[in-house]
Amino acid sequence: MGHRVEADSEEELVRKVQEHMRREHGMDISKERIQRDVRDED
Ligand SMILES: [Zn+2]
Repeated sequence: MGHRVEADSEEELVRKVQEHMRREHGMDISKERIQRDVRDED
């Protein structure tokens, strides 16, 4: 989705991305959706 968020763990990353999407974009994204997007970077 083109958002760069730094975190020490996948769990923290998911939390930070969810918070970012809600605050900056007014969107609620599921944990599963974020994890799928993160894993796409392989
Ligand atoms: Zn953003």
